[in-house]
Amino acid sequence: MPYLTGHHGNPSSTHRFGRLARAAVDTAREQVAELVHAHPSQVVFTSGGTEANNFAIKGVVADRGPGSIAIGATEHPSVENSAAALKKNGWRISTLAVDRQGRLRENTLEQALALSPVLVSVMMANNETGTIQNIAAISQVVRTGGALMHTDAVQAAGKIEVDFIASGVHLMSLSAHKLNGPKGVGALVVDKTVDLPPLQHGGGQEKNRRSGTENVAGIAGFGMAASLAKAQLADYGARTGNLRNRLESGLRAIGGIKIFAAEAARLPNTVCFGMPDIDGETLLLNLDRSGFAISSGSACASGNPEPSPILLAMGVEPTLARSSIRVSLASGNTEEDIDLFIAALSTQRGQLRRMAGRAVG
Ligand code: PLP
Repeated sequence: MPYLTGHHGNPSSTHRFGRLARAAVDTAREQVAELVHAHPSQVVFTSGGTEANNFAIKGVVADRGPGSIAIGATEHPSVENSAAALKKNGWRISTLAVDRQGRLRENTLEQALALSPVLVSVMMANNETGTIQNIAAISQVVRTGGALMHTDAVQAAGKIEVDFIASGVHLMSLSAHKLNGPKGVGALVVDKTVDLPPLQHGGGQEKNRRSGTENVAGIAGFGMAASLAKAQLADYGARTGNLRNRLESGLRAIGGIKIFAAEAARLPNTVCFGMPDIDGETLLLNLDRSGFAISSGSACASGNPEPSPILLAMGVEPTLARSSIRVSLASGNTEEDIDLFIAALSTQRGQLRRMAGRAVG
């Protein structure tokens, strides 16, 4: 709030107001670096996870002629569409298949590495199912294959332990609003060995890697959110993990519900499930009226009647994928919330089924 209401300095100014803003940005850089065990000099602030992913993918190839890159089959659209944009410029894109739990299949990584890709991009945790990839193991294979490794850690940071060094990646994307920070700010963490030309040219901010006057209030908020997330990480994991187990027990008790990626290591706060014969969007609207804010498929794709491409990549039947609901638990949720949700879901499902039965009859 101080940087929205009182401290209006520009971090590039040398006068005292500028120095105050610069200090806020520097503190936030340290806080974000600390959350993911990186060095502050490796943190480049961006306008969010989308820009960080675009920067990583398009930046790595910027000074090179067309070659190949590989991306996971369940990546966020900001990775998928960045790769699709490169395809138009002659780049070959390999898609790394996943198993039914959403985990990368090792053999597809080896096949992709045979094409000597410049970059491999695999997300740390999935935004719909919560599936966590073994990024350290993947990075090791990728490095041995001579490629650069990027991970989209937007969903993972602040929810599970994320270690930039131990993960072995060269580039890591982060977003503030996934860890209770403000929207419209994120970061790309860049290993010192990576030559990453800027995509955004201008006044040379962020050590000439991302020009443009810094979003000081957003960056300060990101830093504070990162610091709080780090302090609360163990407690958050245990608490939301217990709530998720309660939610999944409730879903199993209702019956006829498929929990996706149930056998994979997953984020503690994410549950994605499908209910045969139910339209996820209709259920979502009805539950919203009852006070429950949930998503069908990915929030970015809500309103899109197509089944989730992530679930399709995991081999889920299109009709079941179309019924998918994603519940993301927050630290403020309680056991009572879970119980009320299960009761509302059970009632809504019964009503929707009866209506579908009448429509057919
Ligand atoms: N990557 C993942 C996995 C996400 O879930 C999201 C947002 O939902 C993004 C990237 C994009 O981040 P932002 O909303 O900060 O642009």
